[in-house]
Amino acid sequence: MNANEMKYNYLIIGSGLFGATFAYKAKQNGKKCLVIDKRPHLGGNVYCENIEGINVHKYGAHIFHTSNEIVWKFVNSIVPFNRYTNCPVANYHGELYNLPFNMNTFYQMWGARTPSEAQRIINEQKSEAVAKLNGREPQNLEEQALILVGHDIYEKLIKGYTEKQWGRPCSELPAFIIRRLPVRMIFDNNYFNDKYQGIPVGGYNCLVEGLLDGVECRTGVDFFSERNELQSVAEKIVFTGKIDEFYDYCYGKLQYRTVRFETEVVDVPNFQGNAVVNYTAADVPYTRIIEHKHFEMFGQEVYDCKKTVVSREYSTEWNDGKEPFYPVNDNRNAELYAKYKKLSDREENVIFGGRLAEYKYYDMAPIVERALGMDV
Ligand code: UDP
Repeated sequence: MNANEMKYNYLIIGSGLFGATFAYKAKQNGKKCLVIDKRPHLGGNVYCENIEGINVHKYGAHIFHTSNEIVWKFVNSIVPFNRYTNCPVANYHGELYNLPFNMNTFYQMWGARTPSEAQRIINEQKSEAVAKLNGREPQNLEEQALILVGHDIYEKLIKGYTEKQWGRPCSELPAFIIRRLPVRMIFDNNYFNDKYQGIPVGGYNCLVEGLLDGVECRTGVDFFSERNELQSVAEKIVFTGKIDEFYDYCYGKLQYRTVRFETEVVDVPNFQGNAVVNYTAADVPYTRIIEHKHFEMFGQEVYDCKKTVVSREYSTEWNDGKEPFYPVNDNRNAELYAKYKKLSDREENVIFGGRLAEYKYYDMAPIVERALGMDV
């Protein structure tokens, strides 16, 4: 079949935020798209399931945050966003600490009441780690954390949580992961430094539905089981799945972390008083408990909805049959990905986008930004 006879300009594989935003843009530019997804629903990992009137983030908590005004205006043009501000709390053996690391945390940890008191303690604690570095840059997450906040915070709030989340010692993880978290010498529990954050009013499904409005979509379709037929329906492919799978694992398998959720309905209106509570001790098997209603219900609304839904999150290594959530950022995987990337760079008719296709620890906003920036 030549390009003129093809039915679609783009076959978009995967209806997560990259695929859906790309489809939106393509449609606006008069292009015809077919979106397929192997799951029974659209939206990829931002999909929510409604349980007891509460939008449950089925594939993990998603909080949209960005400083990019264009991205913020764009998503709000699809659906307005609410004022949710992420202020997670850490529970370490029953002791509660505010996150990210800020004056509230330092007060809870050491009784430090002023920035200079807190800074003095951090400096004292980090001096040993700084001396060990002997002038070089921190090479791993442990070194980075110790020079950022000292050993008390590292031991109580970082080490156990991180090793549970990634299944690897902090000394073998890249430093940049912990640099995602702000350290603030003010009393401010806002987890993100970004100018804008929130949750779509009515939930993420409204965002996805808005993006895919008027686009032909088919769910329950696995690209790999009908690859030849599907590839011939469009001039170009937008692939948002695992890049190693796209190339039949020809260089070997990339590693991912997966997350398993134990979700339950609890017969109280307010279970933990916050959307996110991280369990940072190594001996608690889950990493965090999400209480979904707090993303979208505020004040009296929390109590008007008599029940609540909570999910305990367990992080494990990915293998076939599980959902891949996080790329594993170590050297072996970086080198392996570079090989696949070389193959993908040679493709003229395939666009790779999103966490799995670019093997990148992306947040949502940069994904939308990248899709909006594509030459469609
Ligand atoms: N982290 C931590 N303690 C916490 C929360 C986060 O040590 O209570 C570290 C951990 O290494 C994690 C990283 O910070 O991988 C980034 O956390 P973030 O909340 O950004 O992860 P995500 O929401 O993407 O799972």
